[in-house]
Amino acid sequence: MTNLQLTILGSGSAVPLPRRSPTSQFLTLSGRHFLLDCGEGTQTKLRQHKIGFGRINHIFISHLHGDHFFGLVPLLTTLHLLDRQKEMHLYGPPELEQAVQSLLDSTGSRLRFPLIYHVAQPKAPTLVYEDEALWVKAIPLEHGMPCWGYHFQEKPRPRKMRKEAIDRLGIPVAEIRQIKQGAAFTDLAGTTHANETLTDDPAPALSYAYCTDTAPLGPYLKEHIGPVDLLYHEATFTETHRDRAQQTTHCTARQAAEGAQTMGAQKLLLGHFSIRYDDLAPLEEEARAVYPPSYLAREDQVFELSRKDGKLYL
Ligand SMILES: [Zn+2]
Repeated sequence: MTNLQLTILGSGSAVPLPRRSPTSQFLTLSGRHFLLDCGEGTQTKLRQHKIGFGRINHIFISHLHGDHFFGLVPLLTTLHLLDRQKEMHLYGPPELEQAVQSLLDSTGSRLRFPLIYHVAQPKAPTLVYEDEALWVKAIPLEHGMPCWGYHFQEKPRPRKMRKEAIDRLGIPVAEIRQIKQGAAFTDLAGTTHANETLTDDPAPALSYAYCTDTAPLGPYLKEHIGPVDLLYHEATFTETHRDRAQQTTHCTARQAAEGAQTMGAQKLLLGHFSIRYDDLAPLEEEARAVYPPSYLAREDQVFELSRKDGKLYL
């Protein structure tokens, strides 16, 4: 069983409300931690959820609209005050570095730790992060300004070695790595043991796509991201305000659900709600009418995604 954990630190859109903050999420996947967007007040939301600042080493910014970005420099300056020394990796638009630096400069702020920028390219998906367990691509979206979604994909895991097989056959430690990659084992008597008798299937890799803010994208998400396990897609409006969604290059809940269905996402989370909706149930109903596995990403909710016996649980 593998797990992906996602904490919704902010579920709102442009205007902060007492119980609905601008966009931010904290994602844990393969034991790695990622902060996605950093709207105003994100640092206090991190404290509220007891997410230690030391776990924040990679921050992904979708675009420079304030409700996704205005919490970033305050978070960085707080980390400076708390004596952070370790470098911070920032992922986002080419203009991110200048935006951060000009705010730091104009407020006379200095950071005692380095900022490392990873720039998303405007025309095509960009691989912006990779390690032995997973990779992240930045996917250009369609918004009033340059904007990117992020696709998090775990890599296939090594096969699980059976301890019983090691003991029974006296498998040397030096051979275990290859066996975990699928190799057979030949013992001293010359008998070859097939890999299936030595190992079990690993937990399947999980994937997550974070897509906000954007106009409806048709088959684009299918072509550039594909059938992820979990999709977070903005659903700023209901169909009642479809014109407004179009004017502001946002989506309705129905359009988000159509996007999820087209790309073959297993589960859909809806967010980035307009302040005009007190009751969010109609957004969920609208999405579920098109795509039943749709859920509201409500403020402060923590989602766990896991797979057991071939089924996905949220
Ligand atoms: Zn925006």
